Amino acid sequence: MGKIIVLIGAPGAGKGTQARLLEERRGIPQISTGDMFREMKNADTPLAREVQAIMAEGKLVSDELTFQVVKDRTSREEKSYVLDGFPRTAIQAEMLEILAAEQNKKIQAIEVDIPSAELVKRLTGRRSCATCGEIYNIYLKPPKKDNVCDFHPETQLTHRADDNKQIVVTRLATYQIQTEPLLSYYERTGRLKKVSGEGDLESIYWEINKLI
Ligand code: AMP
Repeated sequence: MGKIIVLIGAPGAGKGTQARLLEERRGIPQISTGDMFREMKNADTPLAREVQAIMAEGKLVSDELTFQVVKDRTSREEKSYVLDGFPRTAIQAEMLEILAAEQNKKIQAIEVDIPSAELVKRLTGRRSCATCGEIYNIYLKPPKKDNVCDFHPETQLTHRADDNKQIVVTRLATYQIQTEPLLSYYERTGRLKKVSGEGDLESIYWEINKLI
C-alpha cells in the first residue's frame, strides 16, 4: 500500500527540489521522469537519440514511452513514492489511474504554484551538481563559491541544455496547454491540494510535508 504523490507545477516551480527534500528527510523516493530521460539520453541508441532530440526542443516524449519508463521504475516500490514530472498529459493521467489501481495505491496531487513571470528567471538561473544532483540558482540560491557545488568543490555546476531562454518559452507553453488542465481533473476528483511555490525552500517544504 501507500500513496502516489504527484507534484504538479510549471517547469521551474521547484518540484524537483521539494521531491529531493522529501526523499532525503522522509525517505519517500523521488521518481523524476525528466531525470530518467536525461540519463537515457546519454546512451548511444536510436531511442536515446530520439529522446534527446525531443528534449532539446522542449517538447514532450511520447506518452507510451514515458509510461513504460514510469511503470518499470515504480514496479519495485511497495510504499509511497513521489512522481516529479509525471503525469504531464491527460492520457498519462489516465495511464496513472490504471497503474495506481494495479499497485493498490491512492493518488494525491499537490500543485506547486508560481507566477509565470518568475519562471523564466528560475529556469535560466538554474544550475546543478552532476555529482550529487543538488540544485542551485545563480539569482535565488547561489552556491557559496561561484559555479561549484557546496558539497563537491571539485565539481563545476552544469546548466541544463533545455534551460536556455528560447526552449524555456516552449516548455512553459507546453505546460500550459498539456499539463495545466490536469489540475482541474484532480480538483474535480477531490485529490488536489495546493501550495505556493514562492518563498523560501524550507517553508514550502513544511507546507508540502503537512499535506502528505
Ligand atoms: P523536467 O526535468 O521534468 O523539466 O523534464 C525535462 C524534459 O523531459 C521535458 O521537457 C520533456 O521533454 C521530458 N519529460 C519529462 N517528463 C515527461 C513526461 N511526463 N512526459 C513527456 N515528456 C517528459
